[in-house]
Amino acid sequence: MTERTLSIIKPDAVSKGLAGRILGEIEQSGLRIVALRMLRLDRRQAEGFYAVHQERPFFRDLVEFMCSGPAIVAVLEGEKAIERYRALMGATDPAKADEGTLRKKYAANVQNNAVHGSDGPDTARSEVAYFFSAVDIVA
Ligand code: GDP
Repeated sequence: MTERTLSIIKPDAVSKGLAGRILGEIEQSGLRIVALRMLRLDRRQAEGFYAVHQERPFFRDLVEFMCSGPAIVAVLEGEKAIERYRALMGATDPAKADEGTLRKKYAANVQNNAVHGSDGPDTARSEVAYFFSAVDIVA
């Protein structure tokens, strides 16, 4: 089943110059990049993207972090893309992430954890639509 998922290379990874390496690892994993854009989220955009976490104690810090510098948003496509990209990223907390995963290699801590990936088909659809319109995604 071919799926699409939203990937974000978060501001910590972009500012450390890790974007190229991460995009390379995504390509090497066999996932196709079908849309790609650099942006700097403003507060409202970051709050909207992480609205599901608005009651969590870390919400304000998370929003501030996501606005702290440029990020790279991308749509990835492939067989079981959602699950495969989650596996490539590793656990939310890099201390708990498997060896070889993006977060194990590139993340500093549970908040500044280098990458985002959608966690299911419904969130993938809404997160892709949050940043891209249909015409931005290559066939
Ligand atoms: P994900 O799906 O693996 O990104 O994890 P979640 O959906 O649970 O959390 C969303 C994002 O919030 C994570 O990627 C982190 O950047 C941040 N986050 C999650 N848990 C914590 C926490 O305990 N403290 C802080 N400061 N940030 C967190």
